[in-house]
Amino acid sequence: MLQQTQVATVIPYYKAFMERFPDVQSLAKAPVDDVLSHWSGLGYYARARNLQKAAQSVMDNFGGVFPDTQEELETLIGIGRSTAAAIVAQAFGKRAAILDGNVKRVLARYHAVPGWPGQTSVLKQLWVHAEAHTPNERIRDYTQGIMDMGAMVCTRSRPACSDCPLQKGCAAYARDETSLYPGSKPKKAKPEKTTWMVILEDHEGRILLERRPPSGIWGGLWSLPELDPAYGADELQEACEQNLGFDCTEPELISGFRHTFSHYHLHIQPARLGVTGQNTVRMMPSRNGCTGTRH
Ligand code: SF4
Repeated sequence: MLQQTQVATVIPYYKAFMERFPDVQSLAKAPVDDVLSHWSGLGYYARARNLQKAAQSVMDNFGGVFPDTQEELETLIGIGRSTAAAIVAQAFGKRAAILDGNVKRVLARYHAVPGWPGQTSVLKQLWVHAEAHTPNERIRDYTQGIMDMGAMVCTRSRPACSDCPLQKGCAAYARDETSLYPGSKPKKAKPEKTTWMVILEDHEGRILLERRPPSGIWGGLWSLPELDPAYGADELQEACEQNLGFDCTEPELISGFRHTFSHYHLHIQPARLGVTGQNTVRMMPSRNGCTGTRH
């Protein structure tokens, strides 16, 4: 939950989530909608789905007992090398090197490692440093300490070098080049995409929602149906009838807006249509596991 989200925001979500899913068993067997609804508002829903898949894997492959080795943990979906190491170190007190975003920043500056950590060659160097610094004793303290260093002292902008216990050996500080490390991701213009989003309302005021495919943007969530942007506004009524299976009124276009994802911009053009006659929007599976059918 804490990836890309602040602690203060996460606390109420965490409490509600733990109350509903207090152990691996209850998370593994819960309906996925229940898991997603407890994640709603945190974004990056793939993490919630992965968490549940990992719980199911613990039940199926580890007899319901949470694995305690880095190797086994890395077999769980959503758990990579650094996360597995952090669990092994902090939960089980075993030596394992971590390298999350904060630690990458500390090590890149301390050793003046040039380049963007997303590049394999840079990452490799950082892992070598991470392994070398990881102690045999007090692994929990070291792991928490190095993460906190990155989060609170060696911050992204304006690191607190004057208060930093690593200042003496820090190469970036010695060169007065802290702002150069770690290197930035090479800039690439985000592609622009467009879509129609249909607000289809029946005579009882109910709005049609579709369940999205499990992977991809907003995977597995309920959303307004989308239509191919290649349809012109004058083709929308027919497109709705053909694609969604309802007889519809003429569309009313509502102001569009742009939503930005990590890898593209999506221009959303909403269109409101009414269902004609006695057709009603019912929550039933139809195309692609979506809802909405004519009755
Ligand atoms: Fe980061 Fe400054 Fe400490 Fe170096 S001296 S590790 S740049 S906070």
